[in-house]
Amino acid sequence: MNVPLLDLKAQYAGLREETQKVLNEILESQYFIGGPYVAKLEEAVAQYSGTAEAVGVSSGTDALLAALMALGVYRSPLDMGPVDEVIIPTYTFFATAGCVWRAGARPVFADIDPDTYNIDVDSLESKITPQTKAIIPVHLYGQCADMEKVSAIAKKHGLAVIEDGAQAIGASRNGVKVGNFGNCAGLSFFPSKNLGGLGDGGMIVTNDSTLAQKLREIRNHGMEPKYYHKHVGGNFRLDAMQAAGISVKLPHLDKWGEMRRRNASVYDAGFGDVEEIKRPVIKNGNRSIYNQYVISVPNRDALMAHLKEKGIGCEIYYPLPLHMQECFAKLGYRKGDFPRAEYAAEHTLALPIYPELTREQLDYVIAEVKNGLVKGA
Ligand SMILES: *Cc1c(COP(=O)(O)O)cnc(C)c1O
Repeated sequence: MNVPLLDLKAQYAGLREETQKVLNEILESQYFIGGPYVAKLEEAVAQYSGTAEAVGVSSGTDALLAALMALGVYRSPLDMGPVDEVIIPTYTFFATAGCVWRAGARPVFADIDPDTYNIDVDSLESKITPQTKAIIPVHLYGQCADMEKVSAIAKKHGLAVIEDGAQAIGASRNGVKVGNFGNCAGLSFFPSKNLGGLGDGGMIVTNDSTLAQKLREIRNHGMEPKYYHKHVGGNFRLDAMQAAGISVKLPHLDKWGEMRRRNASVYDAGFGDVEEIKRPVIKNGNRSIYNQYVISVPNRDALMAHLKEKGIGCEIYYPLPLHMQECFAKLGYRKGDFPRAEYAAEHTLALPIYPELTREQLDYVIAEVKNGLVKGA
């Protein structure tokens, strides 16, 4: 049997006609940037997220960069004085840190909660200095970070909060959805995310209309009105093809989320009796959208080799924490600084969790994970 990590063709099969129809409309209109499809998707995503506003952008990465720029965490070439600092988890996709660096600020890393892999809120306050401007908690693998604590600390110290919701559109905590905790949240429509586009795309959701207006200017070179520039922005625009393709998928997102949670519960039951497997820990009040189903095992690399041999797709998210990345060597961190993140990097493995998986495929993965553990022990 073959079980890929992700099978986008299975999803497309059910959406082929509708997708081709909207793409054809755009081709006939020859209107490719912005326009009615983008506006319609923004409205739909805001409604879905329960936020007042949504601003379409070119990617989840640009969503974070534009948010930092709009919130004033941005160093122009003429700025002197101390460098702004932004606190982020060391265990996340690179973009979370890369956008801080590109905004001219210093990424200040924090370790993670060993159960959720999200930012360790207990260490947050010790990292705050007079230069700290913002915190970017990441809702990793589709589960919300501990936002009550993040928000309380941010409020106490006057910091902005940008949620990295790239893996977590629609995830909620105590009934509150991603985008309603911080000043804003960045979402990603990269094809492998739960709501994937036909290429790159992203969105910023927020309840702050003033911020939304500034983001609309910043995504288009800070221009308002045309050819008059109040701020320096960039080309962070969402194109019509992406917006149309995503609009076709959005009505199915909750159903797909249910299917992912169902798959997760099959894995949970299947692995329940195996002591060596640490299953995903979903905290009370959290509703995960399971962008990934990540287990932690003692012999991760041997298990991974076994699964690959058995035709089962799996992946390490992420093999090297950000504080140990070569490009950040100048920040002065070293191995051992964040032991929980380093442990996760060496022991975790993501298994296939996409909605269309069959019961047979899930059972096969469960059986081979167990076999692989025995083999590698
Ligand atoms: C995917 C991802 C991003 C970046 O999104 P893109 O749309 O690929 O630019 C940022 N942060 C996290 C945590 C992600 O998983």
